[in-house]
Amino acid sequence: MSASRCTWLALAFAAVAGAMLVSGNVRAETGFDVPHPHAPHGTHDGGGHDGGYALSVGPAVATVDRPDITSGCHARPDALGTSRVVEIDATGGLEFGEQYLKDEPKFLEPGEVVLTFDDGPSRRYTVPILNALDADCVKATFFSVGRMAISDPATLREVVRRGHTVGTHTWSHKNLASLGDAAMKREFELGLSAVAAAVGGPVAPFFRFPYLGHSKATRDYIKSRGFGIFGIHVDSKDFRTKSPGIVLRNVLAQLDRTKKGILLFHDIQPSTAGALASLLAELKARGYRVVHIESAHPAITLPEYDAIAEKALASKSAAAAKAPLADRAATWPISGPDEHGSAPHPAPSARASKPAAPASHPAKPHDWANPGNDPWQLRSFGWD
Ligand SMILES: [Zn+2]
Repeated sequence: MSASRCTWLALAFAAVAGAMLVSGNVRAETGFDVPHPHAPHGTHDGGGHDGGYALSVGPAVATVDRPDITSGCHARPDALGTSRVVEIDATGGLEFGEQYLKDEPKFLEPGEVVLTFDDGPSRRYTVPILNALDADCVKATFFSVGRMAISDPATLREVVRRGHTVGTHTWSHKNLASLGDAAMKREFELGLSAVAAAVGGPVAPFFRFPYLGHSKATRDYIKSRGFGIFGIHVDSKDFRTKSPGIVLRNVLAQLDRTKKGILLFHDIQPSTAGALASLLAELKARGYRVVHIESAHPAITLPEYDAIAEKALASKSAAAAKAPLADRAATWPISGPDEHGSAPHPAPSARASKPAAPASHPAKPHDWANPGNDPWQLRSFGWD
C-alpha cells in the first residue's frame, strides 16, 4: 500500500469519527417512514437476523440543507433541478428497494425519484450523461464497476467533480449469489478498493448487486461492512434497446404506476445517453422531483484489496502511457478464453431476485491484479 493510500485511509477513518460525532444534531430528521437513528437494527429490516456482527449505531436517513445543490439552475430557470438532498448513515447496514424488503424504509414521497446509473464509467456514454444532468442541475448516483473504474479513472473523477455520488457494483460484475463466501468477498472488496483508488478519495458506502442477484449471506456481509444496499423501483431496461424513445416510454410507463422510486439506468448504454435530456424534461413537465442521496460517512476499504487495486491502477496507467493513442474507456486486452462465464448483462428481468443467467465459478484461482483475463465488458458492450 502506498503512503498516499495510508494517508487517505487515515483521513477516511477521521471522517467517519467526525460524522459519528455530529450525527443526530446537525442533520434534521425528515419524519418519513424510516427507523430512528438509534433504533435497534432489527426493528425495521423485516427479515431474519444474520448475527455475527455488532450493530452499535443504527441506520438513519435525513434531509440535509444543501443550497449549493438545491438552489436551482440560475442559467436555466425552467430546468428540472434537484429538489432535496438526503443523507444516509448506513453504519449498521441498510437496504432500499422492494427486492429486499416488504417494508423497506421509505424515504421518497410521491413524485420523488432518485436517478442511478450502473456499470460505468465509460467515457463514451458517461460524459454525455453528465452533460445532460448538468444541463438540468440534477445530481445522481453512480454504482461503478471496479474494473471499469480502473480502466477509466479520469471519467470517474469527473463524475465526482461534478458533485454526484459514487457507490460500488463489484469488481467484475459477477452475480454474488452464485459465488462462494471467499469469492463473494473478493468481488465486493476489490470492487470497492478499485473504485476508491480510481477516484483517489472516499466513495459512498452504497452498493448495488449485479443482476440484483443476492442471498441472505451476501446481504449480511455487505451490511456488516456498513453499506447501504440499493435495489430499484423503476427499470429503464436500457440494455434491451438502442432506442432512446423506448427508454423514455419504459420509465414513464412504470412511473405512472409507482409514482416515485429509485430509477435504474446504465451509463454504458447509448439508449440512456440519448434519452436522458428528454426524460429530464418530461419528468419536469409531469411534476416529478429529483432527490439526491449522499452518505454520512465514507466507505472504509480493506488494505489488502487496496494493494491489489493500486497495482491494477498502476498497471493500467503504465499501459496507457505506452499507448497514448488508445484513448478509450475500455481497452483491456483479451488474453484468453473467458474462464468466468459470460452472463448477459443484466439478467432479462432485472427485478428478479434470482439470476436468470448466473456466472459460473472460476475454474482456477483468479489473478485479481490482471483484469485482462476477464473481458466481460468487452463482450457485453461490443467494444473492440
Ligand atoms: Zn450492473
